[in-house]
Amino acid sequence: MAEKMQFQAEVNKLLNIVVNSLYSEKYIFLRELISNASDACDKLKYLSLTHPELGKASGQLKISITPDSKADTLTIRDNGIGMNKDDLINHLGTIARSGTADFVKNVTDNGTDFDLIGQFGVGFYSAFMVADKVEILTKKAGEEQAWLWTSDGINGFEISEAKKEDNGTEVKLFLKKDDKNYTDSIYLRHIIRTYSDHIDYPIVLCLGEAGEETVNSGSALWAKHKSEITPEQYKEFYHHISKNFDDPWLTLHFKAEGNIEYTGLLFIPSAAPYDLFQPDRKNGLKLYVNKVFISDKVEELMPHYLRFVKGVVDSSDLELNISREMLQQNVLIEKIKHGLVNRILKELKKRFKDYEDYKKFWDNFGIVLKEGIYEDFSNREEIASLSLFASSHDLNKLTSLDDYISRVQGEQKCIYYITGDDINVLSNNPQLEAFKAKGIEVLLLTDPIDEFWTQTLQNYKGFSIKHISQATLDLSLKRDDKKAEAGDMDKLQKLLEDLLKDKIGKVTTTETLTTTPAALTVENGQMSIHLERLMRNHQQQTAFASTRILQLNPYHPLIIKMAENISNEAMQDKIKEVGRLLLDQALIAEGEAISDPSYYTSKISDYILQSF
Ligand code: ADP
Ligand code: MG
Repeated sequence: MAEKMQFQAEVNKLLNIVVNSLYSEKYIFLRELISNASDACDKLKYLSLTHPELGKASGQLKISITPDSKADTLTIRDNGIGMNKDDLINHLGTIARSGTADFVKNVTDNGTDFDLIGQFGVGFYSAFMVADKVEILTKKAGEEQAWLWTSDGINGFEISEAKKEDNGTEVKLFLKKDDKNYTDSIYLRHIIRTYSDHIDYPIVLCLGEAGEETVNSGSALWAKHKSEITPEQYKEFYHHISKNFDDPWLTLHFKAEGNIEYTGLLFIPSAAPYDLFQPDRKNGLKLYVNKVFISDKVEELMPHYLRFVKGVVDSSDLELNISREMLQQNVLIEKIKHGLVNRILKELKKRFKDYEDYKKFWDNFGIVLKEGIYEDFSNREEIASLSLFASSHDLNKLTSLDDYISRVQGEQKCIYYITGDDINVLSNNPQLEAFKAKGIEVLLLTDPIDEFWTQTLQNYKGFSIKHISQATLDLSLKRDDKKAEAGDMDKLQKLLEDLLKDKIGKVTTTETLTTTPAALTVENGQMSIHLERLMRNHQQQTAFASTRILQLNPYHPLIIKMAENISNEAMQDKIKEVGRLLLDQALIAEGEAISDPSYYTSKISDYILQSF
């Protein structure tokens, strides 16, 4: 005799939401039912530790999925713990999970986005997204009586006594008219592999005459203890989840305990992927809850500057907190992220000590990690200390900021840098001449991100980080070689300023050049020439160009010649011609384009010819 019962009020609300939402990711119902079957197997396994006879009666624990395309049903079967009448009423007639109840309340109060259902699931009731009737035939381990539970998800449920040989549960879904595709074995296989691949028990697809097939690969490697895992297994797993073929440069497996528990199995590849700089590139982390795949789109799990990290994060705390977390901007996710970042940085710090080893990582991902100096306020110094830079100290070896500081002499309280497109061009930049002459090391920065982190990290361990154009130290070189007359220099400056007024802001005399007659710089505090070029290339730069300054070296024979002839009428045209060429040369030294290349080349050819 069937007994008719009503759902608890919250269940009715939830069913209403589930059934009526035009929810696009319906297939998560299968993940939910498989997860319940897996939980039921876990429970029996646990119970048989103290009651071995129960485990023996059940045999090998497994989950089977049987589609029937004639009857349009799908059955999910397990030989786990099973349910008795009380269990059916308490677990499937009321909402057991407090998180789910909160979720329902929030959705009804605030009309929250239904897609969140898909991220975390609403458990058993998601079956009603695809089924207009569900039958559960179940027998609890160790008990005699089996039960049949049926419901259309609208008018309550019925329970009656039933016959079933073995313990366990069969959930039979009578598929809705529009959801008959869930009997398609190819589709089923795909869903199971995507969402339930790491379930510990075999998931067997039963295809009638076509036989049975275990679909999942079944090893949630991260859930095992480190000591049970071989390096080969780690590597294989990395290949599996990253779809890469290289060996991981770093493998990091840990269990975090404390106010939130989670397991992480993270990898840093040894080769850079091609899409590292595509703006829509997702991070490489998969989020699991108790071995059930939730999402690989939880952007908040990993900061952007660690987007090269691949792996799995599994937390059992998340499910319990499902709705609270979703609605309070993922406090737990935020905590996990914090923990992951700390672990990764700690690990990098260890590997940092071995230059050759670390450089392999740096060559692939340093350019991305450096974004963290700019992005991650709280870890800024730490990330800076893990960064490597080209330096005028030794062009063949990268340096760290700490190494730079260890070489600093005397009163210097700054870390100096210069930015540009290319190390070799930079290392010959005329602005470096005085630094070289005085033995002051300069970092040669060539990545676009360098223009930005240098603006946010202005200090490192008491040293301010400065572009060489902002150096306040006295760079003038003591020397007694011949110098142009100051009065003549004034006139020369004026003449060139007039001549070049469309191209530069002013002309000055400098004491800081040695072998170059003239060089370009900008007014202290203004955007560097390189940054301006970057922005121009990205169509960002029009109005606020820096004031360019052409610096003249009064010790250079060419400048001396020009100054000596400044009052000679007959030489005016020649001086102007040379002035134009000097500006072109200064532009070239900065890696800038010159405005009239044909003028430049024809004049240079003339001069070369005259020298023969
Ligand atoms: P959750 O799995 O988070 O507890 P569900 O809505 O998925 O929430 O399931 C509700 C409850 O129903 C489970 O906690 C469990 O007690 C019971 N249940 C569901 N499916 C099974 C099953 N296959 N075997 C035994 N118990 C089950
Ligand atoms: Mg569940």
